[in-house]
Parts: sequence; structure tokens; C-alpha cells
Amino acid sequence: MFEKILIANRGEIACRVIRTAHRMGIRTVAVYSDADRDALHVSMADEAVHIGAAPSRESYLDADKVIDAALRTGAQAIHPGYGFLSENAAFCRACRDQGITFIGPPVGAIEAMGSKSAAKTIMEAAGVPLVPGYHGADQSVVILREAADAMGYPVLLKAAAGGGGKGMRQVWNGAEFDEALAAAKRESLNAFGDDTMLVEKYLTRPRHVEIQVFCDGNGNAVYLFERDCSVQRRHQKVIEEAPAPGMTPELREAMGQAAIKAAVAIDYEGAGTVEFLLDHDGAFYFMEMNTRLQVEHPVTEMITGQDLVEWQIRVADGEDLPLAQGELAIRGHAFEARIYAEDAENDFLPVTGTLSFMQPPTAGAHVRVDTGVRQGDEVSVFYDPMIAKLIVWDEDRDKALNRLTRALSEYRISGTTTNIDFLYNLASCAPFRRAELDTGFIDKHHAELFRDTARDIESDLPLAALYLVLRQQRTTALHARRSDGDHRDPTSPWNLNNAWRSVTDNLHTLEIVLHDTQYTVAVEQQCGATTRYLIRHGDRVVCAQGVLEGSRLRADFDGYQFSATVAEHDGLCSLYTAGGAVVFRLAEPDLGGADQADTGGGLLAPMNGTMVALLVEAGAAVKQGDALLVMEAMKMEHTIRAPADGRVVSFYYAAGELVDGGAELLEFSADE
Ligand code: ADP
Repeated sequence: MFEKILIANRGEIACRVIRTAHRMGIRTVAVYSDADRDALHVSMADEAVHIGAAPSRESYLDADKVIDAALRTGAQAIHPGYGFLSENAAFCRACRDQGITFIGPPVGAIEAMGSKSAAKTIMEAAGVPLVPGYHGADQSVVILREAADAMGYPVLLKAAAGGGGKGMRQVWNGAEFDEALAAAKRESLNAFGDDTMLVEKYLTRPRHVEIQVFCDGNGNAVYLFERDCSVQRRHQKVIEEAPAPGMTPELREAMGQAAIKAAVAIDYEGAGTVEFLLDHDGAFYFMEMNTRLQVEHPVTEMITGQDLVEWQIRVADGEDLPLAQGELAIRGHAFEARIYAEDAENDFLPVTGTLSFMQPPTAGAHVRVDTGVRQGDEVSVFYDPMIAKLIVWDEDRDKALNRLTRALSEYRISGTTTNIDFLYNLASCAPFRRAELDTGFIDKHHAELFRDTARDIESDLPLAALYLVLRQQRTTALHARRSDGDHRDPTSPWNLNNAWRSVTDNLHTLEIVLHDTQYTVAVEQQCGATTRYLIRHGDRVVCAQGVLEGSRLRADFDGYQFSATVAEHDGLCSLYTAGGAVVFRLAEPDLGGADQADTGGGLLAPMNGTMVALLVEAGAAVKQGDALLVMEAMKMEHTIRAPADGRVVSFYYAAGELVDGGAELLEFSADE
């Protein structure tokens, strides 16, 4: 067995690999960039080697530096994790040339799956079912269009070199074809330096179901069942689960055997994932094979009781697979939710920030948290904004789902926007509970997931108001108890808890912001044997009672009793109820006046991105609305304009520099 391995990665996956290696008695070497000098994975490893600047190209993607670090520290093997160099055939070959074991498949297998069209040709020959389509070498427009016309619309154009959903276009009819093809080719050439296209039948409501396979170098191959990853945003997974709901033993066996066929066809070794589209009629089609450990591998570990990283290391060391097919069984149900620093309400754009407070739910037999960050760490522009993976397990899907919503409601993160509220809404909405899964899930249930319908606001507003009043009273009570020695006077009217005003008589008026809209809510407090609150918004009146204890709110609305878990960060309140997350804040007092807000408004970076161009000289006079600079983020350009007549005193960033979302971009002086 290896004495020492190097982990060519960062974040949660580096930490996760290190944990297993240590359990197996193997020493570990981490690598790190400038940005990760104090990162968790560095502190967990026995040794750590600095390999360059923060941008991945200059560190984690630099194969020579990684291999050099392994040679210098005497690591006998490299675990690549996922992303970065994990599916890079040249890196795999370079490891082998240096006598270092690559903990992953052989070079040939990576190469075979590197191109989606070449992969499909191999799979076709091996008898693995493919989505009907064209993946030939002749790329003339006429041939591609004929292929599309013949299979019937809608079709999906895909970049052969594609990944991450780039270079994909849906085409709904023949008239749209030429233009869509040109756009997909442009995007693909831009992203991958190659514009070879394939045309596939576009399945309108498929599920994404993938099979975990494992092969050793001694001719053994097994499948560790399936994962359903249908819930996606921007063609990227958000919540995964295993086993796939509604799976029959026959279908599982058929998909498992097809996946093994795919792996055997390319002489696979190690952990691999064969991705399929599963149509509603039960037909399934090969999509691609990922020749590495997947982000979502923990759900498979939870239902099989196996450690896949341990399997990877043992197989790479030449051992047989630890178990045969007949020894593997599914136990219970597992979910994984990916916690991202991102703004779900703003098209899921990634955000940055410092994790000023972080408290994950308590881990145990049912809850696992895989993370690579600690409180105080920064989510920077350089890497993937995933903060953690929350994995839960229980005996069946319903119970596991209860674990998931509870754990999400207990996750506390301040300092950056996260998708926790969105995940909570997803996990608690009825169609998800009923497992009505397909890849269009988020679009289809948008209103429910974002709770922005009139019906939701009617019920969410009074709850928000009740919470704010109870919280205010708790704070006042605390102050009264703490008021200083001689001046202590719990009977002072200033310390009263019932919104006492000498003239207004127990009335609170709250300005609450829900979904970017400000609402005025009046709360009248009626003190009797029990305190009641009449909560009024427009014509609607709710008679409420409530108790706030710790992070638990118990409410009674017109006789209907329910409870919610409360989380607050950065002035934003989230109330997690059985129906979803209610997210709101108290409107900030308008101190600056409208004019000031207007002039300050557009001069902050709208998101993390790169400065593309400064359009005027510092010092030059500009008119209101003139374009001042262009930023780019996620391939979208944003123009920042002059908020008023005036001049730019100075720009804080030069073209090409990275900018954090929310950062001030320039100093502006408006004319008097
Ligand atoms: P990438 O490698 O860019 O991630 P994939 O080929 O893995 O692209 O596809 C990503 C997602 O796109 C799938 O999970 C699925 O949701 C959707 N998709 C891919 N092919 C099809 C198809 N033929 N019909 C419908 N949806 C598809």
C-alpha cells in the first residue's frame, strides 16, 4: 500500500480524500495556491506544497508544478479529486512517465471519453443505448440540418468537446436551426477551441439518472447502483439522491449492466460514472461517462455503506475490488444538497464574501457535512463557490427528506448570500416530496420555489410581522434585565414590552421587505390573560399569538398552530416553516434621501467579475446615463452608467482586473 499520496485539489474534496487516507494510515501531501495558504485542506494534510498564484491556471491546473510537488515530497500516488486535472489525459500520462500512480483510470479511458462524439461511437459499437442523434465527422450545415429534420424537432445541439452546459442549444423547429447552430458553434469555439457539434433528439421531460461503476485492474467490474440528479439549474446539479425514486429492480439491473458494458468497452479502472437520460416511458440513453469521482458520490456511500475513496486507493494499488456485485446492497435513502455562495433570486449568480459566521447542523449517523471551509474563510472569485455538501440518510425517502429540511433549517451562514433558503423551499415543496422529478423541475415550479405568488405573500407577511414584534420584545426584555444598577427600573415605560406609546396605544407599524417589495404592516397588541396581536396588511387581518424561544417560533394564526425555525444573518431573516422558507428584512430607515441613493446606486459591481473596459478618462465631464465602464461576469456584460451629470474622479480597477460583487468601482462627483 502507498505510504504517502498527494491530493491535487482543494476545498471539500481535498479534505474528504485526506480523511480517508489518514484512516487507512496513509500520509498526505496537500498543494495550495496563494489564496489557500490558510485553507482547511492545507492544515489537515501532513505536508503541504505551495504551487503558485491564486488563479487555477497558475496553480491547481499547472500539471508540472503538481507533479514536481509529488516528486519533491516522495508521494507515490496522486489523487486528482474532481475538476482541475482529474480528466486531463496529458496529466495522467505525465504522472505515469514519472513513476507516480494516478488514482484514476488509464490514459486511454480518459481519452476515449474526452469527446462526446467519439464516446458515442464507442458506446454504439458496444451496444449501449444512445439518444437518437447524429455524431458523425461530416460537419456541413446541410448534413447537420438533414439529421435534425430526419429525427424530428425539438433537437439539442451539443458541443462535442462540451462540459458545464456550454455550447448547448435547443432547437424547436427547422426555421430556427441555422441560427441556433451558428450560436452553439460560436459558444463552443469560445469555450473549448473546437466547434464540432452533435445533434440529439431533445427529450422534453427526462430524468438524469447516473450509474456509479467501479473496475479493478484484474478484470472485475461492479455497479454501485444509481443516483438521480434531475434537479438542475443551468444544466448543473443542485440536489442529488440515491436510490432513484420509482426505480424497478429490472430497470436498475438493465442500466447497471449497460454502464458496465460502457466501462468495459474502454478498459476502465477505478471509479467512474455513466450518465443516462431516463425518459418517462422507461427508455434510457447513454449521455456521457465521467472518468473520475463525482461531487455527489456521498449519496452512494450512504446507501451502500462503502467508502469510495478507499476503493479508489485500493484499486489504484493493484488490489481486487473490495466487494463483488452480489455482496452489494442498497440500504435506505440518501440526499445531497449542494450549499453554494450564490444568489438564487438573481439567476443563481455566484457571489463572494467572508464566512463571518458558520455553524453547520450537527453531524451524526443521519447527517454528514463535507466542507472545505471554516468560519472566517473567504469565498473568493478564483474557485467554485460551493461551501459545503449536506448529506442526509434515513431508512426511506420520506424520512430522509425530513432530515434534509431539518438540517437545512439548522445551517447558519453569515457574510455571504447562500442558496440555503432556496434548497429548503425545494426540499419542502410538494412535487419534490412526491418525487415528480425531471430536468425541468426548477423552471416548472418556479413560483412555488421562490414563494413570490400573491397567496404566499398574504400568509408570509403576517408571520414575518409576528416574528419581528416578538424579537423586538425579547430584545427589550433583555435590556430591561440588564439595565444598570441604580437605574434599574423594570417598570420604566421605556422598558415596557407592549409597544407602549404615550399616545399611539400599543401599535407597531412595520416596514417589511419581501421579494424586493416593501409592505407596511400594522400590528396591534392586545394585552389580556394571553397577549394577542392583530396583524393588518391592507384588508387582511390575522389574529395571532406567538412565542419565540431560542431559534424556534411557535405561532397561532386564527386558531391554526404551527412552528418555524428562525435564522438571521446580515440583517436578513429566514423563517423555515413546513411550507417553505420565508425570507425578509426590516426596511432600512431612509437617511440619505432619494437623490443620494440614486447617485450612489449604479457604481457598485453588480456581481463578481472582470473589468472589461473603462470607457471615459478619469477627470472627464460626463452626462447622466453616459456609459462609464463595462464589466463581465459569467460571460454576460454589464455597463455601468453615470448616475448624474458630473465627472469620474478616479477608477478603482483597471481593465482585466477581478472585481468582487458589491465592490465600489469608481469615485464619482456629481455636479452641484
Ligand atoms: P455537460 O457535459 O455540458 O454537463 P451533458 O451532456 O452532461 O452536458 O448534459 C447536461 C444536462 O443537459 C443533462 O443532465 C440534461 O439535463 C440535459 N440534456 C443533455 N442532453 C439532453 C437531451 N438529449 N435531451 C434533453 N436534455 C438533455
